[in-house]
Amino acid sequence: MKRITIAIDGYSSCGKSTLAKQLAHHLHYTYIDSGAMYRAIALYVIENGLVNGEELNKVALLRVLDHIHIGFKHDDGSQRSETWLDGRNVEHRIREMDVSHNVTLVSPIPEVRAKLVQIQQQMGQGGGVVMDGRDIGTVVFPHAEIKFFMTASAAVRAQRRYLEIKGRGGSATLEEVLANIARRDLDDTTRAADPLVQAPDAIVIDNSDLTSSEQFDLAVGHVVKAIGVVTEA
Ligand code: C5P
Repeated sequence: MKRITIAIDGYSSCGKSTLAKQLAHHLHYTYIDSGAMYRAIALYVIENGLVNGEELNKVALLRVLDHIHIGFKHDDGSQRSETWLDGRNVEHRIREMDVSHNVTLVSPIPEVRAKLVQIQQQMGQGGGVVMDGRDIGTVVFPHAEIKFFMTASAAVRAQRRYLEIKGRGGSATLEEVLANIARRDLDDTTRAADPLVQAPDAIVIDNSDLTSSEQFDLAVGHVVKAIGVVTEA
């Protein structure tokens, strides 16, 4: 059976990665979290003192950008692919609020995007990939066979992300999470380089009132239409 590319884009915290992981598991495809790569760059600037309040030292970042190494490795414990930055597993660290606060300082930078898009395109060569992000169906894989564009109300998204952070033992208030989501939506949709836009051929899924299994069934229905029957993993 043909191994296709599935691109999932959408606003912050609207369940893109949940759906992407479910589809990748079901299809025996590789799941790639492109947001984790932008988060890893944000962690780098935090840890290396390149950010001061809302001010990013862009010149210093561009000087070292080529030497920052970002990748994914399968973790035997979690049985998942986890994010690595310069030889260290940062999968959990990049989900913390300080990284969420700083990520939209680095994601609008064209040189950062060019570096990460190139890695993403290499990883997706040959298909059999589900990748989620903001520009996957528009820039990274404009010819993806299936594109989903996901959305949900900001209140629903904030509540989900808040419970997820609490579940990991993290600390954040619901107001803080809601403000961060609103800020990232604005930054991601208004930046000049590769802003979040719905691809004209994307299938829109509003999951405000869907459970994750209802959403999965809906998405699999579209995959079946595109590539024929898929067997249960
Ligand atoms: O997907 P996630 O919320 O982890 O992404 C974190 C941030 O990374 C987004 O708010 C956005 O600024 C950036 N991003 C991006 N392009 C992508 C994926 C993420 O600009 N393809």
